[in-house]
Amino acid sequence: MEIPATVRLYLRNNHCFENEATILAVNENLIAFDQSCFYPGGGGQPPDEGILKFSNGETIEIESVRSDSENVIWHVCKTHPSEGLIGKSVHLIINQERRLALMRYHTVLHVLNTITLRDYGGWITGVQINPDYSRIDFKLEKFLYDFRHGIPKSPGSIADAQSQTAHFAGTGSRRGN
Ligand SMILES: [Zn+2]
Repeated sequence: MEIPATVRLYLRNNHCFENEATILAVNENLIAFDQSCFYPGGGGQPPDEGILKFSNGETIEIESVRSDSENVIWHVCKTHPSEGLIGKSVHLIINQERRLALMRYHTVLHVLNTITLRDYGGWITGVQINPDYSRIDFKLEKFLYDFRHGIPKSPGSIADAQSQTAHFAGTGSRRGN
C-alpha cells in the first residue's frame, strides 16, 4: 500500500509539541500518520521521543522516529500496535523537555561552529547532540590556550540576540542541517 508523505508539522512551527493525527499504516512496531510534529532526526540532532494517546486514554510509547525514502515518517513504538488501528484518530505528544534541550544544544553548537571557523579557522569534524550534554569536534591548526577558557572574542551580538529564527530550504534540497 502506498502511503502519502507525512505532513511535517515541525517545519511550520518548531514549537509544535503535539497534534491530532490519523493512523495510515502499521508495520510491526512502526506506525505512520497523515501528519506529525515528531522530528525524525538530522543535522546531529537525534529523533524525538514521546507517546501516542488514544481517545480512551490508552497510550503507546514512541521511542524513536525515522523518515523513509518516500518521506513517510515512521514512529517506532515500544509495543506492537494492532493493524486494526488504521484509520483511527490519535493524539501525538512529544517529550517536550527533551526536544527543547536538543534544540538549544543544536542552536548553540551552530553559534560555536560559526565563531570557531570565523575567528580560529577551525572546521567542524564531528558533532553529537544529547539532551544532557553535547559535543562538537574541530580541526584547528594550532591549539589556542585561551580557547579552553571560553571564547575570548565572544561577540555581544549573541548575548544581545532576542531570538533565533529557522528557515527551511524545502524538502530534499538541504534537509537536516
Ligand atoms: Zn544544524
